[in-house]
Amino acid sequence: MISLSTAFRGFLIAAFLTTVSVAESASDKKPAITVIAGGLPIILTAPHGGGAAIPGVPERKGDGVTRFNPKADTNTDILTEKLADALEQKLGKRPYVVIARFHRKYIDANRRPEDAFESPEAKATYDEYHAAIAAACKEVTARWGRGVVLDIHGQAAQPGVVLRGTQNGKTVAHLLKQSGREAVYGETSLFGELAKQGFAIFPAVGSSEPESPNYSGGHTVGLHGSSSGGTIDAIQLELGTRYRDAKSIGDGAEKIASAITAFAKNYLPSETQKPTDAAKPAGKIAVGVYLDKGAGPSVNDLLRALAKFEQVAVTKLTAEQIRSGGLAGLDILMQPGGSGGTQGRNLDEPGREKIRNFVREGGGYIGICAGAYLASAQYPWSLNLLDAKVIDTQHWNRGIGTVDIELTPAGREILRTPNQKFPIHYAQGPLLAPAGRPEIEDYEEMATFKTEIAKNGAPEGVMVGTTAIARGRFGQGRVICFSPHPEMTEGLEEFVQNAIDYVNRKRAGK
Ligand SMILES: [Zn+2]
Repeated sequence: MISLSTAFRGFLIAAFLTTVSVAESASDKKPAITVIAGGLPIILTAPHGGGAAIPGVPERKGDGVTRFNPKADTNTDILTEKLADALEQKLGKRPYVVIARFHRKYIDANRRPEDAFESPEAKATYDEYHAAIAAACKEVTARWGRGVVLDIHGQAAQPGVVLRGTQNGKTVAHLLKQSGREAVYGETSLFGELAKQGFAIFPAVGSSEPESPNYSGGHTVGLHGSSSGGTIDAIQLELGTRYRDAKSIGDGAEKIASAITAFAKNYLPSETQKPTDAAKPAGKIAVGVYLDKGAGPSVNDLLRALAKFEQVAVTKLTAEQIRSGGLAGLDILMQPGGSGGTQGRNLDEPGREKIRNFVREGGGYIGICAGAYLASAQYPWSLNLLDAKVIDTQHWNRGIGTVDIELTPAGREILRTPNQKFPIHYAQGPLLAPAGRPEIEDYEEMATFKTEIAKNGAPEGVMVGTTAIARGRFGQGRVICFSPHPEMTEGLEEFVQNAIDYVNRKRAGK
């Protein structure tokens, strides 16, 4: 991870961020689709590199499907990961990434639904793949105004060639209109830049020859590109075997990333759009803080941190006020450290239901330590806002001290920091893990514990690797839970502000 320039930090402040979800199949815990949010107006997709089975889904037979192909595009999943890393090196930020981990013999994600799968059990995974791309497109449009989907494939027909697939210009209609033919066909186009990196390309630079009929662009570029409007252009890249075998894949990824970088500098927006007046919050962000039974002394640290944030207006709330409509008009509710059980029981079911409705309708929720226990789906008194269970509940009093956490790319994005590892104050917060409750959206990990505290009979080796910070969605609202205490850790108070910006009601439903 290279460090971000000051200018780039400023740029991140303006950015808003997407849900990252990793779909998980039911029986094993291997994700069926990898989805990673990015910081560039570039979305990498790879439908055919996966090797995994999908529980309950048989192999396709292909009856009636034209040009049926159940074979994987070898190594294109790995290549896409390497491309994302190389782009981060070159551009300082990562692209959005959507990679199918399932094998093409179960679902061909680059075909229309009627040709993509045969058993009804496959539909949800197929839909999720395209929904992830659509969500990334929507967010790129909101952040930059326009961007590009690069759909990464492999072909063996011409091992030394990269083939362009834009349905002969249709899926890049917006780019053609915006920047002219040069941007798609010329020396400064993506394929022009690939040629400069030494790739043989087809059609040749500058040529108006039609694209190769079998590789001229499938369902993904057709669906998500600008053929029928919009400002996202989509290009299918069909990489010959020679560029993605085990020996040359690293070098190939490096060179393709160089070409994408040059293309991005030539044609893609480099700065996020200024938020329009309509998108700017009118006045301050109204943050409610629970201050009643079960709120511990750390609530004072929280209130001190909040007082420093100019944009935030704090309202203190008792359980009774929450039950009698006190959440109305607020953008966010924060449940502080203390005792989750006491907070939950004091709120009682009517108060808990008020909070659920508040978030369901777009309010934000931030829980710290006890507030994270409260948000979980673990206890009779919990809110069930986050699809998380609590590990080793028996040893909740495992001790207080400093632990290391490691942020995921999503965590770095939301908390606006280029750094991965932080020491942070920990005071017996929950060790979270996915609960797999079907009625709650899966949460996304923002950080994991890298070191642990195991006192008072708590077994060693349990805490490391569990979720330390998570985000989720509940109805229209966004939720962030911190097991440790950023508000009590010098230098990490800004995590609280960045979490507030992320769960703010003004962004609900995005
Ligand atoms: Zn393919």
